[in-house]
Amino acid sequence: MDTHAFKRSLHHSDRYNRRGFGRADEVAGSLEQAYQSGLIGSIRDNGYRLNHGRLQVRLAKDFGFCWGVERAVAMAYETRRHYPGERLWITNEIIHNPSVNDHLREMNVQFIPVEQGVKDFSGVTSGDVVILPAFGATVQEMQLLNERGCHIVDTTCPWVSKVWNTVEKHKKQTFTSIIHGKVKHEETLATSSFAGTYLVVLDLEEAQIVADYILGKGDRNSFMARFSKACSPGFDPDQDLEKLGVANQTTMLKRETEEIGRLFERTMLSKFGPTHLNEHFLAFNTICDATQERQDAMFSLVDEPLDLMVVIGGYNSSNTTHLQEIAINRGIRSFHIDTPERISADNSIEHKPLGQELIREQNFLPSGAITVGITSGASTPDRVVEHVIQQLMTLSEKN
Ligand code: SF4
Repeated sequence: MDTHAFKRSLHHSDRYNRRGFGRADEVAGSLEQAYQSGLIGSIRDNGYRLNHGRLQVRLAKDFGFCWGVERAVAMAYETRRHYPGERLWITNEIIHNPSVNDHLREMNVQFIPVEQGVKDFSGVTSGDVVILPAFGATVQEMQLLNERGCHIVDTTCPWVSKVWNTVEKHKKQTFTSIIHGKVKHEETLATSSFAGTYLVVLDLEEAQIVADYILGKGDRNSFMARFSKACSPGFDPDQDLEKLGVANQTTMLKRETEEIGRLFERTMLSKFGPTHLNEHFLAFNTICDATQERQDAMFSLVDEPLDLMVVIGGYNSSNTTHLQEIAINRGIRSFHIDTPERISADNSIEHKPLGQELIREQNFLPSGAITVGITSGASTPDRVVEHVIQQLMTLSEKN
């Protein structure tokens, strides 16, 4: 499929909208009520600190909603206003946050059901309105919705679209796209659907395996065993690693993406020499700062003396999990929760340790003076963070 031509024609369709409906003022009140927080505002004004009896809270200096997510949520609210009577769907969680998705359900927005990892669009009919989430949708999904006569409201973050344009450029110049991301993440699935030949690498370690192979230091069978589910159909490492461009899932570590870019630049330089570098490596600039800013703020926060840490965000949120990793790597007792209700009045907490299932732990808040660090992922509204802090304040008074 000519994905570029399809996208261009979709953008001209009168059943497609990616700019909102000019109803920002009408939805501002509902958004403020659902997501914003006076308490968080005052903690910010107080140098990101709150003292409450024996409890001290230290808030990360960057946390919560990034502008791409804020924009997507506002567009979803505008869409409901604009189409009050139509059936309204979302192809996926608009963002990885349970409270946002619950609010949308209350507004009678339906989620496309997923059976064993496959979306079931059978209930979607002509005239329905379908919202595409902040991290985008695959080109095949867009095509299906378009052919079915749906109205498409595309909230894909412009930074994500920029990555798609980059892989389109790679494809046009017959370069292979090396995508730094998680193979099964919706954003990476969408990005790879726009790419021609591609290979997804999870981290620097996997990138190094690819770089070694390019320089003749790898074995084809073990290479394919490792990457067979992370590449385009028919991918041949002996032919398809001659011309490379790098792209990324926007919620990966920015620094790691940059390092991966530099690694491939060095690799191609060493294989083809400086005169031919431009024929074999395409530089890129598709990195959104929001994820890195939250991680940098987390690195500063864990430098402070903390007794424990609470990281708030959806359990399938990639950037929230990275924040939790930072705390754990520093040896801090850290709890990843998705909603304030995970903290109970009996001083227990239900949380998700890294890579494990949910567990409940007793004696969450220890006695005596205590300092708690707080941060949240890019898809968590301030209102949720506020409720967590209120739970902590109440617990600290009782226990
Ligand atoms: S993290 Fe960046 S790319 Fe992703 S939605 Fe937010 S602003 Fe957009």
